Amino acid sequence: MAPQMPAPAIELPVALGTPAAILPWQPAAPVQTNDPDPTEEDLSIVRWSVDEAKTLAQLSWTWSISQRRLARLNPGLAPHDVLAPGTTVRVHEADDEDVTQSIGAPNRGRLVHGIPMPEGDSWSMKPGRQRVYGTVETVRTLRDALLAYGRAFDDAPRVQIRDLSALRGGKIAPHRSHQSGRDVDIGFVLNTPPEQTRRVGENTFDREKNWFLVRALIDSGQVQSIYTSGKAKRWLLAAAAKELTADELPRYFDLISYERGHSQHMHVRFRCADEHGACQGRSKQRPKRAARPSA
Ligand SMILES: [Zn+2]
Repeated sequence: MAPQMPAPAIELPVALGTPAAILPWQPAAPVQTNDPDPTEEDLSIVRWSVDEAKTLAQLSWTWSISQRRLARLNPGLAPHDVLAPGTTVRVHEADDEDVTQSIGAPNRGRLVHGIPMPEGDSWSMKPGRQRVYGTVETVRTLRDALLAYGRAFDDAPRVQIRDLSALRGGKIAPHRSHQSGRDVDIGFVLNTPPEQTRRVGENTFDREKNWFLVRALIDSGQVQSIYTSGKAKRWLLAAAAKELTADELPRYFDLISYERGHSQHMHVRFRCADEHGACQGRSKQRPKRAARPSA
């Protein structure tokens, strides 16, 4: 039997004298959710806000969450209600039976019951959210480091959170890894206003803030490795050397390595959680080509 569609809880604004014909195009009023909610703290519930007037049907595509699931998570909303920008919509609710699992290797793996990265004041994500899913451990560790960053700096620019994994993991171009819910690309924090250059360079790379983030992530004990450019590693080291002794540096910098293509962002890989029995920490090596005969 098809599930009955609940009546929309949101009323469209109706004023006397408003022509009825335009009503369907009026965005519904934002849902106010100001009550502090402990379920968001422990990630058992995640809400996202609508970026521009859209229906649940359109959001389903933007967020890669099925319409059926969105409707089930938000019984007050009907699929064709137009939701106003700022409306918050539930995109995840934990279920005891849906245990998150990272399966396989970062470059040949998948994600089971991954959860969406929540929104927050100190970071940003693109409106298209098809690739911001991770294991609970990944999402929690990343979220907590970003919250600490937001508390540490009054003037903190939002950190750009780029790709994690797709809802069910697997290959997402152009990445080789990012397949099993344990990888995230984080744009470097720049010390220039957002309207100015977004290029990372010696004078724009914010050493203190990027180092804070790296330290907060590694201090969680959940980071397996961080990939970045050689220059960024040197700039991070310069900031770290102001806080740490020479003996303390390797604990952080042994985890940070150079990898091509990381001049504008860092790639953070989290460890396999103990409970994820089918998780493989390292990427699978591609078969080596036969050595070229020397000329
Ligand atoms: Zn990456």
